Amino acid sequence: MSIDRLSRIPSAGVSRSRTVERLVVGHPTSDGAGVKLTRVLTQPLQRRLDPFLMLDAFRNDNPDDYIGGFPDHPHRGFETVTYMIAGRMRHRDSAGHEGLLENGGVQWMTAGRGVIHSEIPQQEEGLMEGFQLWVNLPAKDKKAEPGYQTLLKGDIPSVDLADGAGRVRVIAGDYEGQTGPARTFTPINIWDLRLGRDKTTTLALPEGHTVALAVLGGTVLVNDEAVVRAAQLVSFARTGGAITLEANNQATVLVLSGAPINEPMVAHGPFVMNTVGEIKQAMLDFEQGRFGARTETLH
Ligand code: MN
Repeated sequence: MSIDRLSRIPSAGVSRSRTVERLVVGHPTSDGAGVKLTRVLTQPLQRRLDPFLMLDAFRNDNPDDYIGGFPDHPHRGFETVTYMIAGRMRHRDSAGHEGLLENGGVQWMTAGRGVIHSEIPQQEEGLMEGFQLWVNLPAKDKKAEPGYQTLLKGDIPSVDLADGAGRVRVIAGDYEGQTGPARTFTPINIWDLRLGRDKTTTLALPEGHTVALAVLGGTVLVNDEAVVRAAQLVSFARTGGAITLEANNQATVLVLSGAPINEPMVAHGPFVMNTVGEIKQAMLDFEQGRFGARTETLH
């Protein structure tokens, strides 16, 4: 081997980081019955962040900004993942399911062929904090039976980061051999990372996956190139090496990675299908009561 070839090897990209593609600043909005939230991932990004459709973060300590919750509304064609960091939310749906989502827990709802549900805070004061992520379903699973996975705080492993930089809660997928409890239709990782002040960690994520980080608290320096603050999201190339995160102060980072579904997508409000015809059918089915009863009539 010549000296020339030897000297080329280190610069051939072996140790390159996965490239930062885009920095997205969340914007304040409200949804449901006046719940104030920060929409971090919005419709224009849906194709690029396949299979992730939407991310809303909420952190309110003023009850006026959350008390109304999200009264009856439909979903079809995807899954919602609601993670409560602080606070309690009551969930009811058109099939008679009911559950209380508490501090540290996750509700993974497969809307599949359709549900009507309500999501209402069960507190009149104090902090409500968490996020809701929408995950698309492949065409073959969009008509799946609606279902729920209730992941309690104790079901979600919380482990030390491999480099001692903090802790990680593995909600879905796996981190260094620690497997999260969520069952998913497509390969997905969802990690809640808590980085200590001035600590650095390196994350290896699967080749070919869509990868994005949302900073929920604190400030993080990504790959020595991008500063990402709270309520901002950064997306990465689908191939490449590891990602390095350095916390400038204590930071909470939601790490998302998923295999792209790569199918046509038509999204309209709470319906995400493959064709315009399927969206029209969803609207018609909802209007004509084929999603089931409203939850107010059940209780
Ligand atoms: Mn909903």
